[in-house]
Amino acid sequence: MEFWLLALGWVGFVLATFAYCSFFEWVFHKYWLHDDMPPEWTGHAHKKHHTLLRAQNFFVKNQEQMMSISFPKWGILALLAANTPVFALVGWLLDWRYVVVAIAAMLTYYLVYEYFHFCMHVPKNRFFENWKIYRWIRFHHYLHHENANTNLNVVLPLSDLVLRTFRLKSRHDKPFIEK
Ligand SMILES: [Zn+2]
Ligand SMILES: [Zn+2]
Repeated sequence: MEFWLLALGWVGFVLATFAYCSFFEWVFHKYWLHDDMPPEWTGHAHKKHHTLLRAQNFFVKNQEQMMSISFPKWGILALLAANTPVFALVGWLLDWRYVVVAIAAMLTYYLVYEYFHFCMHVPKNRFFENWKIYRWIRFHHYLHHENANTNLNVVLPLSDLVLRTFRLKSRHDKPFIEK
């Protein structure tokens, strides 16, 4: 019984970390990538991503568009550095094992973001590309390229729901991509 309680606690902690990541993704995407929060240059590459890949040309056709999809390689370190106070708080309130799990969960969220955001813009008949859930989340991101004030989550649209930026329908009668 004790084992299951412990396991449940860890699963709950991982889920709570993913929920935090969804919130962090939303805030960073909105304020730093779109709303010019200083340092302003953080949003330059992302604005280029939106300019090169508008709703009507959501899928990549050239190298310049391809280069605009991913964060720079040091992005992963910047993410961890920005969250150092949160990890310190977790370590202080709980213990170091939770810090390790929180970092692992955050890295997982980030890698899932990077990989699936890439796949969304560069379709390639991957085995999951016809899965309903994948097409749904890809459409969710397509709608962000239609209107950058909505659907700020790429991975887990929990914060879009809570913070009321969640949008299901295209503003076009015939969206440029299929769900
Ligand atoms: Zn995109
Ligand atoms: Zn954006």
